[in-house]
Amino acid sequence: MSRTLSLAHLSTEPGNSTHDFVSVDVIGQTVNVPVFLINGAHPGPRLVVTAGIHGGEYPCVEAAIRLGRSIDAAALKGQLIVVPSANPVAFKARSIYITPPDGLNLNRQFPGDPEGSFTRAWADWLFRNVIKAGDLYIDMHGGDMIEALVPFVAITLTGNQAVDQTAERMARAYGIRAFLAKEGVGPIGGTTTGSAAVAGIPAMLTEAGGQGVWHESEVDILQDGVRRVMAEFGMYEAIDTPGEEAERLGGWDWLRADVDGLFYPSVHIGEQVEKGQRVGEIKDIFGETLHTYDAPAGGEVLFLVTSLAMNEGDPLMSIAWE
Ligand SMILES: [Zn+2]
Repeated sequence: MSRTLSLAHLSTEPGNSTHDFVSVDVIGQTVNVPVFLINGAHPGPRLVVTAGIHGGEYPCVEAAIRLGRSIDAAALKGQLIVVPSANPVAFKARSIYITPPDGLNLNRQFPGDPEGSFTRAWADWLFRNVIKAGDLYIDMHGGDMIEALVPFVAITLTGNQAVDQTAERMARAYGIRAFLAKEGVGPIGGTTTGSAAVAGIPAMLTEAGGQGVWHESEVDILQDGVRRVMAEFGMYEAIDTPGEEAERLGGWDWLRADVDGLFYPSVHIGEQVEKGQRVGEIKDIFGETLHTYDAPAGGEVLFLVTSLAMNEGDPLMSIAWE
């Protein structure tokens, strides 16, 4: 069997690497997506890593670029595909949550639809050509431009034991403490990693950083995690820095805005809250309280929206319990 690693027009032989843009026609609009291909000199699993599914999440993009540039094909057992900006239209637009041509959240559209609107058609291309190319899949995110978060990893449990166990092994190897394993795709359907898992590809979501900035510490959390997963699966030498031990959380609740207004959280990320504790309120532009929010369960504030402007239906925060 040929061990050439190919994606669209790009291809590279064992022991070699390449990177370039791949041009894709998405319902009449050209998307130039950057791709690194690293073809290990030795056989092993094929890992796919994507970043920037949301255009305003920056530490993951920088971490992916560094991975793409630093993994040495001569020392790699297996193959690595890295897409450091998997939603280039949203990245260029500095867009929060959505992809501008149709206003959809790309991470709710997988596995996509080639006959759908722009974001759905783009999800379809990514799913068929990138995500499904892997034996293992990591999708790196962070808080969006208006979100702060505690780093966490998450997997979707599908009931397929082999897939679920491998995904859990990836999540535990990554080195981030907060670990969510969700039964089934649940209310947040259409994600990269949930759709990959359902298609039989062990997959994990990773989150670090936020608020439209990027710091070396967050870049390190994300790229070190990928390297730990590669070491766990015998693909690459282990790094010296130990990760945090994964602590599986029982689940999480998302609070959402009931009205448009101004958001005043009264908690911070990482804070432990009691069930029923006041966690924030939405006021109108004259300072009158419109709605108050209490914790539906005791637990840890995992992510928090930090923008004053708030729109009905948008997330406010999530609280994860043990
Ligand atoms: Zn994201």
